Amino acid sequence: MREEASPDALRDRRVLISGASVAGPALAHWLAAHGCAVTIVEKAPALRQGGFAVDFRGAAHREVLRRMGLWDAVRERQTHMGTQHFIGPDGREQASLPPEFMSGDVEIFRGDLSEIFHEHTKDRVEYVFGDSLATLEQTPDEVHVTFERGAPRTFDLVVGADGLHSTVRRLVFGDEARHLRFLNHYVAVYDAPNHLGLDRTARWFNAPGRAVGLAHYGGDPAKALVTMVFAEQDPGYARLGPERQREILRERYAGLGWEVPRALKALEETEDLYFDAMAQVRLDRFSEGRVVLLGDAGYGATMGGLGTGLALVCAYVLAGELATRPGHRAAFAAYEEQIRAYALGCQKNADSAGPMLAPATDRRIRLRNLTYRVLQLGPLSALFSRLSVRAAEAIELKDYPLPVSGARSSGVRD
Ligand SMILES: Cc1cc2nc3c(=O)[nH]c(=O)nc-3n(C[C@H](O)[C@H](O)[C@H](O)COP(=O)(O)OP(=O)(O)OC[C@H]3O[C@@H](n4cnc5c(N)ncnc54)[C@H](O)[C@@H]3O)c2cc1C
Repeated sequence: MREEASPDALRDRRVLISGASVAGPALAHWLAAHGCAVTIVEKAPALRQGGFAVDFRGAAHREVLRRMGLWDAVRERQTHMGTQHFIGPDGREQASLPPEFMSGDVEIFRGDLSEIFHEHTKDRVEYVFGDSLATLEQTPDEVHVTFERGAPRTFDLVVGADGLHSTVRRLVFGDEARHLRFLNHYVAVYDAPNHLGLDRTARWFNAPGRAVGLAHYGGDPAKALVTMVFAEQDPGYARLGPERQREILRERYAGLGWEVPRALKALEETEDLYFDAMAQVRLDRFSEGRVVLLGDAGYGATMGGLGTGLALVCAYVLAGELATRPGHRAAFAAYEEQIRAYALGCQKNADSAGPMLAPATDRRIRLRNLTYRVLQLGPLSALFSRLSVRAAEAIELKDYPLPVSGARSSGVRD
């Protein structure tokens, strides 16, 4: 369906986006092209590196990347990750997962993706690093914002793209405990030496309720990525400082065999530890007045929830609706109507990520491995691959008009 542009719906609108990871810069890409004056405020002092490899899969993800003009740029920096293996205590393979299941159509480090988006928007968008919203007050016509460091400013719209622990969501919808559904698992990711000499592959080792993955996604052959996933009932660990989080990981993984002692040694040396709860955001609406949530801030799904592709598709929809509706109220309502079921489907996909990676007992570990072996037999393998893209494709993209002239552009055309 081809949508008509609402002439000048966005021209010179002042939009503040909180968060410069994936969702924020993806939205900024579209809004700047429509002539908005976009400011992105990012809490970190510079673009954040580190974290997982993230992937895009299925027609909707691919199509949005193409419409952004970034499909080739992402492919150029893709990981080319291969098969991932689950191994037993003796180091022998118990089961494996094919690349299309774990790494989608194209996989890239989140930091590299963020860099591509930033590079592509930085001449058209004002980036403010090292600051955060402190307060936000809405009037019928504007939003007055104060910052932790910078001077107060006024905007027409504010977008919370500031992740699972969103400040914008807290300021507008209240304390995060009311909206975060903890999935009783944590995930930690950090760099380590590639002692196993892995080459674009991963080995996963389990003990009941715990998983350790060692992966090499390409690039520097000396470097591997450690992923730890463990079961835990206490929802409070994500708020602890990194030292306490390291201690928790040490306690939790003490005494395990395989490469775990070396992985724990690397934990002491890494400067870039990602540690967070596996949790999902559940809200009964994504906007309030002139403020709207995007990506993990509004419907974060955790590992297995296709969060990066989801953020990208939803940024496309939000910008498209803002450009084609007479006002922000109608646009936010249409955005929500189109993406709610889609986002819920992706969240559902992630419900079992913790128990799948870190089964609770030895018996469940064996059962998981058996299931994966069976699923890769003959005709079942096609079904298995299909399942991995179903949630990602469960949206029909509207054909929003691409802005071509008069945008606040430095000549960048897509
Ligand atoms: C450093 C990092 C590492 C990650 N690693 C993993 C991983 O290993 N596994 C995984 O499943 N997911 C990981 N994620 C989450 C994954 O990137 C998202 O699920 C997905 O890409 C959707 O992106 P998003 O832009 O909505 O949110 P996010 O990628 O979470 O980005 C939110 C951005 O908002 C910024 N921010 C937070 N609070 C404020 C504030 N008050 N003011 C301004 N800016 C703020 C953050 O610094 C961040 O840059 C990681 C995210 C980050 C930032």
